[in-house]
Amino acid sequence: MKIYRYPERNSWPELVKRPVFERKELSGLIAEIFEAVEKGGDTALIDFNKKFDKAVTPQITVSEAEFEKAEQEVSADLKKAIQQAKENISKFHAAQIPETEKIETLKGVVCWRENRAVEKVGIYIPGGTAPLFSTVLMLAVPAQLAGCREIILCTPPDANGNINPAILYTARLCGITRVFKTGGAQAIAAMTLGTESISKVYKIFGPGNQYVVAAKEYAQNYGVAIDMPAGPSEVLVIADQQAVPEFCAADLLSQAEHGSDSQVVFIADEFKIFTETIEAVEKQVKKLPRNEMASKALDHSLFILTDSIEKALEFSNLYAPEHLILALGDFEKYIPMIENAGSVFLGNYSCESAGDYASGTNHTLPTNTYARNYSGVSLDSFVKKITFQHLSKEGLKKIGKAIEIMAEAEGLIAHKNAVSIRLK
Ligand code: NAD
Repeated sequence: MKIYRYPERNSWPELVKRPVFERKELSGLIAEIFEAVEKGGDTALIDFNKKFDKAVTPQITVSEAEFEKAEQEVSADLKKAIQQAKENISKFHAAQIPETEKIETLKGVVCWRENRAVEKVGIYIPGGTAPLFSTVLMLAVPAQLAGCREIILCTPPDANGNINPAILYTARLCGITRVFKTGGAQAIAAMTLGTESISKVYKIFGPGNQYVVAAKEYAQNYGVAIDMPAGPSEVLVIADQQAVPEFCAADLLSQAEHGSDSQVVFIADEFKIFTETIEAVEKQVKKLPRNEMASKALDHSLFILTDSIEKALEFSNLYAPEHLILALGDFEKYIPMIENAGSVFLGNYSCESAGDYASGTNHTLPTNTYARNYSGVSLDSFVKKITFQHLSKEGLKKIGKAIEIMAEAEGLIAHKNAVSIRLK
């Protein structure tokens, strides 16, 4: 743990740096992987499964028999939990479908926007260290609600060459039947370039480790869009004397256990809460099955004692956490001060796991300071917004002069003529 007491503001830019590789360190490897997939197609993916996931996969396409087997293997309780989460996620995302509003900017000039789904989308589901079937819900539900026509899913196989049954069950529950056994940068390359089995998509979604994030960024060179850089998980918890140290510790560890490159940050304005939370973290981490990973994440995590909640929020805005928890008595008061965060959890009972699984909000969120300029996944991520306009002759008459003058001033006479020819 890195412990700081009242760090000076000039040290903050250094403190907010994440423990991840520099992008340029990965770019050579990512370019090689893209080249191999472009040349080798499915065979390259099968080779990468052996190399990175120690998996033998004669086929990369998941068969109907594998879906059937998964259906049998998932317990009734887990199925019910997944269905309940799906209901809430659907409710929250369905409410994001906008009403079309036609705006008459002038009499006879009507403008509006309509949503159209991105036709072909690719979903990446992390599976390296934990099979994140919850991410299937977070991506497939809004994709279906938006009306995407082709949805494919890639996820790494386990060492036996299988996909976790809960991932397959959830995929089918969400109407996705084209699932491929490929992970990491090679999965992103396959969805970008296409292979014999995997068709090219227009937009790639999903979180992943640093290789996945770097590959998604690289994919944009090929004209593919991405949701956002959603990499190793983070949480920043701000606590005052009304916080419960054991709750704060549990939330911090819930992100630390994601991977050794995750980072958690704890800020308190009170010494007692600060020390008790550190003690609770030390106690709880020992009992976790993923203790080793969480401990590594804690090694580069920050515990900051500060003198006010305002200052804690100022630090948080610079850090721009993926998840922000306000374990504060009067959290309402501080909401307007939040500038940069992926998703915010308010009060002692809004644990971050609620948003990770089942409350309804999306858990695919920007990391590594990208919450400064990106939103998390939502229904909007799966649509383009097309603008429409209709001008009557009267409408064109009303704005025609302004258009002619502006076009002429820009030296674009054909633009001017398009108006003049209609109004003469
Ligand atoms: P993953 O599926 O992202 O990555 C596994 C793949 O990484 C492997 O299949 C392999 O191909 C590749 N890989 C591993 N080592 C490699 C190497 N040395 N060289 C090249 N490729 C290599 O699964 P993961 O590793 O468990 O990571 C999941 C990540 O997703 C975690 O960091 C977690 O914090 C993050 N996450 C983020 C969000 C978000 O919204 N930001 C949500 C959930 C999870």
